[in-house]
Amino acid sequence: MGGIGSGRPRRGGRRRAENHPVLDVNVLRREGRLRPGLSTVVTLSPSQENVGMLAGQESLRLARRVALSEGAVTSYQTVGLVRRPCNLGGERTYFICSGTGSGHACGRRAGKLYAARQYFLCRHCLGLAYVCQNEDALGRARLLASKKRRRITCNPDIQAPLPIMKPKHMHWRTFSRLHAEAASAKTKADAILIARLQKEMAMYGMAEAY
Ligand SMILES: [Zn+2]
Repeated sequence: MGGIGSGRPRRGGRRRAENHPVLDVNVLRREGRLRPGLSTVVTLSPSQENVGMLAGQESLRLARRVALSEGAVTSYQTVGLVRRPCNLGGERTYFICSGTGSGHACGRRAGKLYAARQYFLCRHCLGLAYVCQNEDALGRARLLASKKRRRITCNPDIQAPLPIMKPKHMHWRTFSRLHAEAASAKTKADAILIARLQKEMAMYGMAEAY
């Protein structure tokens, strides 16, 4: 057994990140929990576990009850926080992973940390399958569409309309190229979804006919 974050893939596929209780920096920020000096208790999903948090300017102190073989203990962990202004306006916040997987600190920037035994770690430290690796063609197309649109807007939701105004300091020509790329990636994702729905409907129709 290695150090923190020596997570091993299980037989029959890698563990999926989304099955682990998760701390999402964007959710915490939206909920106002990262204001320096503020202490709150957050309930993780899907485990419904309560985690105490004390926010600092550049760190987040976490307290969590964990059941170990020798009994329940309170596990403390300090996770680094980076607050960066987004060049399209607003602010982006990241965790700095405090995993020490192969004897040295991970230090990766991460939007999400996953609960594993005592600690919250990034997906690399846990050896978790990233959504993308398990995603099918539709998932990948959506991810690409989301990535493309982030060049011109801070909102990664591909269902939201694309901005009409270019970000400051961006040339109109660049903006219109990126806009076209984002729109085309969205169209491709939609086409895959529509094809899939049509196929499912056809199968359903056939099943009814039997
Ligand atoms: Zn890590």
